Amino acid sequence: MRLSKYLVPTLREVPSEAEIPSHQLMLRAGLIRKLASGVYSYLPLGLKALKKIENIVRNAMDSHEAQELLMSAVLPKEYFTESGRWDVFGPEMFRLKDRAERDFCLGPTHEEIFTDTVKNTVKSYKQLPMTLYQIQTKYRDERRPRFGVIRSREFIMKDAYSFDKDAEGLDISYKNMYDAYKEAFDKMGLEYLIVDADSGAMGGSGSQEFMVKSEVGEDTIAYCTCGFCSNIEKAACAPQPIETADPIMDIEKIYTPNSRTIEELTEFLNTDAKSFAKTLLYNSDGKIVAVMVRGDREVNETKLANYLGSIELELASAEEVVDATGAAVGFAGPVGLKVDVLVDNEVAQMKNFVVGANETKYHFKNVNINKDFAPTVVGDFRNIEVGDICPECRNSKIQTCQGIEVGHIFKLGTKYTDALGCTYLDENGKEQTPIMGCYGIGVSRCLAAVIEQYSDESGIVWPVSVAPFHVIVVPVNSKNEEQARLAEKIYSELKAANIEVLIDDRNERAGVKFKDADLIGIPVRINVGKGAAEGKVEFILRKGLEATELSATDAIKAAVEYINENK
Ligand code: ATP
Ligand code: MG
Repeated sequence: MRLSKYLVPTLREVPSEAEIPSHQLMLRAGLIRKLASGVYSYLPLGLKALKKIENIVRNAMDSHEAQELLMSAVLPKEYFTESGRWDVFGPEMFRLKDRAERDFCLGPTHEEIFTDTVKNTVKSYKQLPMTLYQIQTKYRDERRPRFGVIRSREFIMKDAYSFDKDAEGLDISYKNMYDAYKEAFDKMGLEYLIVDADSGAMGGSGSQEFMVKSEVGEDTIAYCTCGFCSNIEKAACAPQPIETADPIMDIEKIYTPNSRTIEELTEFLNTDAKSFAKTLLYNSDGKIVAVMVRGDREVNETKLANYLGSIELELASAEEVVDATGAAVGFAGPVGLKVDVLVDNEVAQMKNFVVGANETKYHFKNVNINKDFAPTVVGDFRNIEVGDICPECRNSKIQTCQGIEVGHIFKLGTKYTDALGCTYLDENGKEQTPIMGCYGIGVSRCLAAVIEQYSDESGIVWPVSVAPFHVIVVPVNSKNEEQARLAEKIYSELKAANIEVLIDDRNERAGVKFKDADLIGIPVRINVGKGAAEGKVEFILRKGLEATELSATDAIKAAVEYINENK
């Protein structure tokens, strides 16, 4: 491909809307352009890299006997009514009507549709197990689209669904996908962790996420030297050692003007956040509930939503807080509160703590559970944190890191096969319900994750397996015929050797060409400059940017070898 004709609109400036390196680089290197919030177009270079990832995923799936098919993105409401998810999806589902006013959605995921297809096509146990997959565009009207294609509203997902006769079969299908995922992510060059994940309110027997380690990851992973590794959404908190043996004191109202936040309050009262229990109000599908965690802890909204069975769970608005507590925001507490009060295990161990008094500018101190208020329930409602005792080995301390979730494997059970009446006939001609697993890879998110792990201050540093092109040939002085001729020769020979090669035949200054080459990150660059007269060129690996002078023939050989070894 000739860069003079190729649509690669690189940018010198960092676009202000992009907060993280991969998003900045995808815009700057001309891989994507934004159409609307969370909606992007892929330009040729971006699409080429995306297709590489797609194919890596496809090959891994195919080599594990999964069968590819392709379903529509426009899905009729009925399937989701049967499963109950038309309502469950809430505002995240893009909904539309056809001209006859029939309801449709743009598929956010396809459990229902695959289940229905199997229901209509698979009759006998002889056809099972079966794993089907597609690589297809998904639509989710995310509350906070951000970070470019990492959290977008239209994205490409590989979604797979396994159907098995029994639980043992599902274990095998699940392991099969686990292996396929490792193969795919290894091939992309990603450094990742496999973590235990939340399987929702319904339980489900197993779920793991593949997390690319990255400072910009939205997920927090808790891990321990014992091997424990879990998304904090899921990680159970072990009982922590109790620190106080103080006698129980009597509740007392205290005047705390200008102390709405824990920081202001700790300063005002000259104590630390561990002496407080904060009371946060949530709106769970229209119902207000209170949850209490220690002052220095965070509420775990996944645990909370699982306990409440919430579809939509969010922090209550200021108005709702005022309405429920009768006080300004910042003074909520459990004493006399009229809504359900969910208390974290750790708070249940505390004595003589401080809470809001449900009266503006007042708090209570020396509050004690069961004496001063009665909790609706005591349970695990907080995030595990650095320094906590590991819930697995109960010995070492938890550490955390950030991750980007690129894949998710999940033992579903019979939730969808039951709901949609999908059955098969067993060896005795008896109707049975297949057990399902579902398996997703965020194909477009993977592209960003690769860039997040493979870039430097000058631009992208593609791993060969994902690189949109393998080699870029750069005639340094566009006007010099000898350089142009040698560059063209190298270009054709590399093409003939099945190397995907770009030639920068633009009439640009050398500096511009070099900067662009670094930015778009092609693994091998061959500069054809002054040495052309003696048949000499510069051979440069994008990784490390070290240049070696070689004869044109040796440079071609080195390029072919490097690419084939790392492909
Ligand atoms: P998240 O917690 O990030 O919202 P999810 O649990 O909703 O993810 P799944 O429904 O399991 O995701 O989807 C399978 C995969 O699709 C995820 O592992 C992720 O890689 C990708 N994915 C999910 N939502 C998005 C999105 N909005 N943009 C890009 N990729 C996404
Ligand atoms: Mg999501």
